[in-house]
Amino acid sequence: MTEKWSTEELKASVVAYLDMHHKDLNNELFVKKTYYTELSEKFGRTEKSYEYRMQNISYVFFLMGRQWVSGLKPAKNVGSNNAEIIERLICEVEGKSYIGVAGFETQVSTFKNKEILDIPVGIAKPTISSGKVTQYTSDPKVKAWVLKESQGNCENCDSLAPFTTAAGEPFLEVHHLKRLADGGSDRISNAIALCPNCHREFHYGQSKLEKINAIYAKVPRLIRE
Ligand SMILES: [Zn+2]
Ligand SMILES: [Zn+2]
Repeated sequence: MTEKWSTEELKASVVAYLDMHHKDLNNELFVKKTYYTELSEKFGRTEKSYEYRMQNISYVFFLMGRQWVSGLKPAKNVGSNNAEIIERLICEVEGKSYIGVAGFETQVSTFKNKEILDIPVGIAKPTISSGKVTQYTSDPKVKAWVLKESQGNCENCDSLAPFTTAAGEPFLEVHHLKRLADGGSDRISNAIALCPNCHREFHYGQSKLEKINAIYAKVPRLIRE
């Protein structure tokens, strides 16, 4: 049984990762093992566990839409708590504002990969927490359920997801028909899985109103709000 990772140990791992990332970007030579040895001597875990932890950090990088350190393929079984802590630490060390994508998306992925996922209740009135960026409390189960239901096809144009993500999943986006900012609910009756093209069109298209009317007629679970 391995001991729980302390924030101090996670932070040291993040600092090491960001250092490698920096060198990687600048084409500087570095030896990954040196970092693992140093962490191992300081915190007492095997070098292998630090290598694996670095791959977890790559997964958080992937969720943040960033390029991970070459040779450290994202490993997704990080757990949503640690994913959230790692994202916070990355932002803290880099002095950037925290977005909060990793913990949420890790939960989405976990729920999505469950063999059976009951229809989630969702959130009728998602609360707005105002920070630097307006954020909404949304339910990872709703996103997971909608993505699972779509089976990798856009619910508007029926096309297959245009690509597979680095985590091996079909890429589709979840759109709320009545926007959360306009008081829409975060429930499966207000959310659809779209390919990126259709998603942009639902936001910016000349005929977005026709599209919205058509999707209510096409997808039976949708309820106008
Ligand atoms: Zn589409
Ligand atoms: Zn949208």
